[in-house]
Formats: sequence, structure tokens, C-alpha cells
Amino acid sequence: MREVYLDNAATMIKSEAAVQAETDFYHEVNANPLRGLYKKSVQAKTEVDACREAVKRLVLADDSYTVIFTKNATEALNLVANGLILGDDGFGVVEQDAKVVVDIESHHSNILPWMQRFKNVVVSKDLAQDITGASVVSLVAVSNVTGEDLSGRIREARMRLPEAILGLDGAQMVGHSKIDIKALGVDYIAFSGHKFGAPMGVGGLVIKKTLAEKLRPLCFGGGIVDSVSEAGEPNFANIPERLEGGTLPTGAIYGLKVAAKEALENLDFDFSFVSDVAQEMSKNTGVKVLAANDSFIAFQVEGVHPHDVAQFLAEENISVRAGWLCAEPFLRFKGWGPVVRASFSRYNTADDGERLVSSLKKIRGAMGIK
Ligand code: PMP
Repeated sequence: MREVYLDNAATMIKSEAAVQAETDFYHEVNANPLRGLYKKSVQAKTEVDACREAVKRLVLADDSYTVIFTKNATEALNLVANGLILGDDGFGVVEQDAKVVVDIESHHSNILPWMQRFKNVVVSKDLAQDITGASVVSLVAVSNVTGEDLSGRIREARMRLPEAILGLDGAQMVGHSKIDIKALGVDYIAFSGHKFGAPMGVGGLVIKKTLAEKLRPLCFGGGIVDSVSEAGEPNFANIPERLEGGTLPTGAIYGLKVAAKEALENLDFDFSFVSDVAQEMSKNTGVKVLAANDSFIAFQVEGVHPHDVAQFLAEENISVRAGWLCAEPFLRFKGWGPVVRASFSRYNTADDGERLVSSLKKIRGAMGIK
């Protein structure tokens, strides 16, 4: 039985062309993208910068924004949270006790970096009330549990807080939905390339240049300085390089450029077959669909633990995610507890959905439940 991969929200099926671009980099270029003195190094640096432009096109960012590469969305959010705190090192924007608001719907990656570093973080269940007086508001753009597009809330926050720093965790949105970063009024959007067909190892921030100028690097060392004195005093490079310490995952960046272009061409992909799958699933006795949006279905099977559901499906060669989905505060708040998540990509078909539906028909019987 062929594999049906339905865990695209964890990492999307890779674009062949993106994987090829990564391989080609190592076969044909394999140079460090420094402000190089030889041709291949210059070529690599040029391509890294071309990739920044490809990512900017995905969110309609103009030249007031830049792209900072990190290894993934998690590191990108850590870079902002750490970089924003005013310090005597000349970096930062807000005091460590400033009010920071994140939303209960967020993935742990947009909660823990703030909790760890700031002293006054609200994990909000009621944004309209809680954002009052906030200096920073960082929200999830699309929930990795329900697939719901929640990005409009940041536009409302911008109307209320014209001076605050506002950002989105776009891990499930960038490369999947149309985004107009200016219309959203945000200062940054974090993304992970592997969530939209690029190789693992590269993600980052699309960020206002004026804000990036003030951020503290997360990683100090090679590549982020123009010069260092004999006493070790750095003269920092400009952004974006200042925020990208060490050698970049250049092969992955070659792949990301291709994946970003393909994602842009597929933003209108029709996922309506997924809602048909969700409907079929809920006709099944004992299957409870908790949420179905776009390419996501979150569900539970009555009497069967989500991990057992995932294991049963794995035996049928269907790969899904189960558990707390790194969104434990949200699943607790909803009173759902652990769930199973099927997440589709443009490489899936209605046939894949039918395989899921028919396997779920068997599960309760197989577990001895009537
Ligand atoms: N935010 C959201 C909404 C996510 O779904 C994920 C991945 N599950 C992340 C952040 C973290 O992404 P990564 O592991 O690539 O850093």
C-alpha cells in the first residue's frame, strides 16, 4: 500500500525542484557566500540575496523590509524576543518589563521565547482586552491545530496600538496564503522554509529594516562584523548580515528560492476536497471533527487515544500527527486535550482523503469498541 503523507503542517512534502537546487549548489558551487573574492563565492552571495527577494515577494514586502535568515521560525522568534530588549550594549527597543502579549492560539515557539526573556508576558485569551498598554504583540497567523487564519487580529491591534511592535508567527501561513505585510501593519513575520516545500534548515524573518537595525544579534561571531580591533572590539556589519552569525545553510537557501517561487504560483491551490474529507469523516460513528479549515483537519476518535489513532493509521501507511501539537496552552484552554491532525499539501489528492476516511471506519472495530 502506498504511503499517504498527511503531516504537511509538520513539514511539507518537498518540491523536487527545490531539493534539486540544494543538490546542485553542493555539486556546482559549494562556496561560502561571503563578500567573496572569487567567482563562486560571489555567485553564492548573489543567490542568497536573490532568495531574500523571492521570500519578500511571497508577502508583498517592499524595500522597507529585509529578510534575515535563521534556521527556522522558532529561531526567528527567539531572535526578535531576545533582540528587542533594551540593553547597555546599544541594542534593543523596549524595556525587559514592558508588556508583551501573545495569543493562547500560538504554538509554543511564539510563547516560550517571550516567557523566557520578558518579565510581563500575557498569554491572552481575550486580545481586545489584553492588548491595552502592550509594547509588543506577537500572534500566530494561522493556527497549527485548527488551520484557522487568525491574521486579521493583528490589523485590529495595529489600529489600537500605532506605536507598538507587532509581529506574526507565519510558520503555517507564509507560502500558503496570500499575505500583504503592509496591509497587515506588522513589523515582522517569522517563517520556516520547510513548511512550504524548501529543504529543512532555513527560515527567518521578513522584518522592517528600521526594526532590524535595532535588534541584538542572537549569535555573535564570524560574518556579522566589518572589523574587530586587537582588543576584540567589534565594528558590526550592516543588516541583514549583522543578524546572521556564522555560515548560512546556503544549499537550503538555494532550495528556498525555488520553493518560494513555486509557492507563489500555487497560492490559489484549491483545497476544497479537504472539507469534503472532513465531512465524510464526521459521518463515521465515533469520529469527532474538532476543526477543519483549508488544508487542516483536527479530530479525535471516541474511546481511542490520539496516539493510538496515529499508530493505527501508521499501520495503514497513513502518516498523521497526534498529541499536543506544540500548542498545549490552546488545547487545554479549548478543553480538547490531545488531538489527531491530518494536514494536506498541494501534493495530496482526494484519493488520499478517501484512504483516511476508510481507515478511520475500521479503527473502533479494530480496538474492540462497538
Ligand atoms: N509556529 C507554528 C504555528 C508552527 O506550526 C510551527 C511548526 N509546527 C512552528 C512555529 C515552529 O516551526 P519550526 O519548528 O520550523 O521552527
